[in-house]
Amino acid sequence: MSGTPFSVGDRITLKKPHPCGGREWVVYRIGADIGLKCLKCERRVMLTRKETDRRMVGSIPASTGVSENPQSKRTD
Ligand SMILES: [Zn+2]
Repeated sequence: MSGTPFSVGDRITLKKPHPCGGREWVVYRIGADIGLKCLKCERRVMLTRKETDRRMVGSIPASTGVSENPQSKRTD
């Protein structure tokens, strides 16, 4: 496996800003694609893992210093 592992609740920064001007996103869904929500305008987009990885410039894991709890915040 290559690339960055994502988990729900992670905050990521993308290279290119959203049209609203925001660059920070939160991962709200993990599946075949990654669901991202813009923290500024709350618009949701789906990107493939590859695209997300390519566009990402930084990330802040949701579970910093906390025990992992995968799949805890499904919003299906
Ligand atoms: Zn936005």
